[in-house]
Amino acid sequence: MQRVVRRVFVQSSSLFRTVVGGGRGVNMAEGQRARPSSDLAAFRELFAAARNIVVLSGAGISAESGVPTFRGAGGFWRTWQAQDLATPEAFRANPSLVWEFYHYRREVMLTKLPNAGHMAIAECEQRLAKQGRSLVVITQNIDELHKRAGSKNIIELHGCLFNTRCTRCGHVEENRKSPIVLSLAGKGAPDPDAQDARIPEEDLPRCDHGGCGGLLRPHVVWFGESLDPDVLSRTDRELDKCDLCLVVGTSSVVYPAAMYAPMWG
Ligand SMILES: [Zn+2]
Repeated sequence: MQRVVRRVFVQSSSLFRTVVGGGRGVNMAEGQRARPSSDLAAFRELFAAARNIVVLSGAGISAESGVPTFRGAGGFWRTWQAQDLATPEAFRANPSLVWEFYHYRREVMLTKLPNAGHMAIAECEQRLAKQGRSLVVITQNIDELHKRAGSKNIIELHGCLFNTRCTRCGHVEENRKSPIVLSLAGKGAPDPDAQDARIPEEDLPRCDHGGCGGLLRPHVVWFGESLDPDVLSRTDRELDKCDLCLVVGTSSVVYPAAMYAPMWG
């Protein structure tokens, strides 16, 4: 049976409370208990016995690195929030504006670093590997900070800021150019009074795969879009296999990751 999971925006208070490592850069919450617990000894016991660990990570861990989320109170790019611009409708209506937004987000990442939380997860994966145990990061984040911290086993549920996809031929490729295209140089300022650059479509990032020339878009899952079925299958396999699931850095609840944690029981 093919399961279709769409990305939707749900505004909510935190489902999961921080139970471990608060104040040390690592916020880990356990989705498997009905009531949050701060029993560190019990956590250590569970952790020591676990063979296959899944870390489900969300925007909160990146916020610690100063990565803007464009969600919640004060989370604006110009006058918009992520759910206004990270949609196929917004891209169809004004691809220049949406590219400015993503150009800004790509450029911001050149100034950000993985934090102690990302590093601890990456180090944990390496240590566990030596003991024949596994750790996989399933992340909603598109900023690659887990990868830059050294995590190897990563599933990016919502794609990545540094991949593009052609709207004509579907070709996906890594793209780390800064700026991604000359017309975006100096554009994308986040201030509310910044001018819309109104870049003609032909000057936005275009596909050079086999002379296609189609308009490129960020290869990320926008609100209202379906998640990649292969990514979902991998996620399901990892969640079936895992015996401990840590939920890290979820402040607001973004589906589909949010649905995994409550079902863990
Ligand atoms: Zn193409």
